[in-house]
Amino acid sequence: MLDAEYFDGHSARARRVSLHIAGHTLHIVGDGLDLAVPVADVDWPERRSSGVRMAHLAGGGSLHCQDGAAWDAWARAEGLRDPVVVRMQQSWRLAVAAGVALLVVTVGLYRWGVPVASRAIVALTPPEVDAAVGGVVLDALRDHGIIEPTAIEYEQQEEIRVAFARAFARTRPSGDQALVALRFYDSELGANALALPGGTIIVTDDMVRLLADREDVLLGVLAHEAGHVRGRHGMKSLVQTAFIGTLAGVAIGDYSVMLATVPAALGQMAYSRQFERDADGESIRLLRANGISPAVMVTLFERLQAARGRPPAGGLRAPLGIAFASHPADEERLRRFEQAAGVRARAR
Ligand SMILES: [Zn+2]
Repeated sequence: MLDAEYFDGHSARARRVSLHIAGHTLHIVGDGLDLAVPVADVDWPERRSSGVRMAHLAGGGSLHCQDGAAWDAWARAEGLRDPVVVRMQQSWRLAVAAGVALLVVTVGLYRWGVPVASRAIVALTPPEVDAAVGGVVLDALRDHGIIEPTAIEYEQQEEIRVAFARAFARTRPSGDQALVALRFYDSELGANALALPGGTIIVTDDMVRLLADREDVLLGVLAHEAGHVRGRHGMKSLVQTAFIGTLAGVAIGDYSVMLATVPAALGQMAYSRQFERDADGESIRLLRANGISPAVMVTLFERLQAARGRPPAGGLRAPLGIAFASHPADEERLRRFEQAAGVRARAR
């Protein structure tokens, strides 16, 4: 038995009653009352450290008890259980476990969920958005002085464009040639190349000069960049880097939110190793289709290595992670080009 006050929900009058539970029924008795209420119809109070306990009845009445400790002892004795959430909140072990579980889920989502979701988002994104993003990136590179007007003669640019278009056509069914557009810029990035979403490939003047006598190698570089365009790697990396902003943009169908995040994301963007492998695969395909040994790419890495010894006059800018030569080629990539050449030689 527990002493409590009963309010009927219509008047402010408190009635002194005593409570007891029999089976699944709460009996409220005293001051002219004798109520029987199913236990399940009572909104029982949460257990807190102190304070008045208040239980609400289905019909609008309520029970008050000033002595919280007495209420809790009675509730325990009667076998009333706290709601699951309250019991969990009051257990620090469960609280810690919940925190750890949340962390694991968050890290897991970031590590595996975001790449998967990013691919799905890009698949849903219309190709026109790629071109818009590419335009934003181009503007950002210009605004930050990373690219400047080229010093390469227009005739030489055209020779490279024609050579690449011809080589590229040999790897593609007809009608697929308009995938990429070459643009030449002077740049503090040194000898480099960079594919923008939408199909613009930036080639730096230093890259043209580095490979002036080796058109075959330059074709391999351009094919690598075309591989990034074809795989929409720029879009996928961007979506991963700017995940939340992009998600919001897709969810509300307003891509300006996504475009706004592009310049900030640009500095942190880098292609994954898998994207680089895919792009190298495109390079190997194009070289083979044109009767060129993929091993010629070793020349590129050797020359880049030699050029890297001489830092550019303007001092070193933060390298663009998505640009071709911004991180040194590793052994794995070199071996792959050499092995691709070996396989071809044996196949003859
Ligand atoms: Zn690349």
